Amino acid sequence: MSLRIRHTASPVNIFTVMTNLARQEKAHNLSQGLPDYDIAPELNELLREAVINGFNQYAPMQGLLELREHISDALNSRYNTRFCSPDTVTVTPGATYGIYTALAAIIEKGDEVIYLEPAFDCYLPAIEINGGIPVSVTLERFNNFDINWEKIQNAVSTKTKAILINTPHNPTGYVWTQHDWDQLAAIIDGKEIYVISDEVYDSIVFDGRQHIPGFLQEPFNNKVISIYSFGKAFHITGWKIGYCVASKAISEAFRSIHQYLTFSVNTPAQYALAKYLQIYDPEEAARMLQAKRDLLINGLHSSGLRQLTTSAGTYFQLYDYSEISNLNDVEFAQWLTVTHKVATIPLSAFYKTPQKDRIVRFCFAKKDEVIEKAAEILRHIS
Ligand code: PMP
Repeated sequence: MSLRIRHTASPVNIFTVMTNLARQEKAHNLSQGLPDYDIAPELNELLREAVINGFNQYAPMQGLLELREHISDALNSRYNTRFCSPDTVTVTPGATYGIYTALAAIIEKGDEVIYLEPAFDCYLPAIEINGGIPVSVTLERFNNFDINWEKIQNAVSTKTKAILINTPHNPTGYVWTQHDWDQLAAIIDGKEIYVISDEVYDSIVFDGRQHIPGFLQEPFNNKVISIYSFGKAFHITGWKIGYCVASKAISEAFRSIHQYLTFSVNTPAQYALAKYLQIYDPEEAARMLQAKRDLLINGLHSSGLRQLTTSAGTYFQLYDYSEISNLNDVEFAQWLTVTHKVATIPLSAFYKTPQKDRIVRFCFAKKDEVIEKAAEILRHIS
């Protein structure tokens, strides 16, 4: 007898496969969304200070009060709102956990959860493990991955309990506008449908854009949970720490699960982040990553790869490789890593049923010299 895998996604995902292959091949690694550059020296210092000052035991279940206060203050001032307070913020061990726990708090067996593909790979298994029925709405390449509101409207049924959305979007780099939020508001108006809003790249938006958070949407801000990750904002993906923002009622439901899944989150990291939030420059990440995006785009300008819509946010840029290869995207990503020592992620990783597009995602949260070297190699492939 063997244990049943309780979801239909791949047991070992392509992110792990590509990261291992990139390491094995010593490739210039533009695959997984993790920075390869140093973190802010103040964060190093603050983490050390936390341990030395004895912040080494369990933190309160909902997170250190000082951290939740600084998160609320930062959000209220950034979005000119008074929605956030320590009661509406819960500290989590990262956003993957936040999404899982939000689903566990909201859905019951047999409830349908709508999500949009291409989608970050944890959504589908998190819905299924929690007993939900995933209902995917596929955004098409020929349509520039534009959100098809009619399709979303048609996907809603009497069993729909939640919609899981992502802005800024991994992997397309699309950033939701107020018009998008208004369309969603119209669809869920008067229904008991909750919105789980994955906003891990909230601070990484380019060309003067503004991220618009789910919790700011007054028509449904008692039915939304916005999910964040310090990993992305501060380039500390390995710290695995983030937070959720939701009404007091949803936060209570979330915490009722959270207290039994992990109880509390790494105390020294919470201490360090509470202090760091008081001194950091909120625009630094966007500025730095916009320059890296441009370095990649300019570097690939004369290559055989065709750039899709310029990323408006996130760590990622999509490229079509159909002019240089007939391989499917998984084979192409592996071939590129092994033969040319540049690692990437195939777009099919973001679909339950892979599409036939020949598209790969490059991560530009990398040292400039890694981006430059990878671009130089890619320019010479024809
Ligand atoms: N959502 C999206 C869209 C992501 O890209 C990622 C990380 N790649 C996560 C969630 C997970 O974030 P964390 O590491 O904080 O769990």
